[in-house]
Amino acid sequence: MEPAVFLDRDGTINEDIGNLYRVEDISFIPGAVNALKRLQEKYQLFIITNQSGIGRKEFSIDDYLEFEKEYMSILFQSGVNIVETRCCPHTPEDLCKCRKPSTHFIEELAHEYNINLAKSYSVGDHLHDAEMGSKTGGKGIYVLTGHGKKHLDVLKCSDYQPDYIAKDLSEAVEFILEHVN
Ligand SMILES: [Mg+2]
Ligand SMILES: [Zn+2]
Repeated sequence: MEPAVFLDRDGTINEDIGNLYRVEDISFIPGAVNALKRLQEKYQLFIITNQSGIGRKEFSIDDYLEFEKEYMSILFQSGVNIVETRCCPHTPEDLCKCRKPSTHFIEELAHEYNINLAKSYSVGDHLHDAEMGSKTGGKGIYVLTGHGKKHLDVLKCSDYQPDYIAKDLSEAVEFILEHVN
């Protein structure tokens, strides 16, 4: 059983501009791509993303799927191999089973790829991104890029506290690689 890192996409790997579905709008957070390159030597990488803009009909599922293909291919050409991306296209009002903070996708992927969840991490710029990893027996890291800084007050009021707060994805990856066991 191999460990994995479940990554949030917007605000964690790329700048969060809201409703990102055009390739020309992708702007990677400085250092993120290189950090992923290092991380994949020890961990299988997955992206789990909430895209409620699809549910609100601000862009279509086809726009999303075409974008995802391009996004993965850009990362792949930069030397990063994301094993798979899982996307929740619903709005909060849909009360679906897959929207983060649901651990649905992590559980599904763990089953499919035989992942050791106890040695795995989740990383993201919302508390729920970090909490998912903790809830499934691993660790959660909160990053201060994207909405991370803005939502620090949420963190202060929350019962759940991430295992680590990182300046950005690079620092999160440093932390993970220092604690590989
Ligand atoms: Mg995010
Ligand atoms: Zn969903």
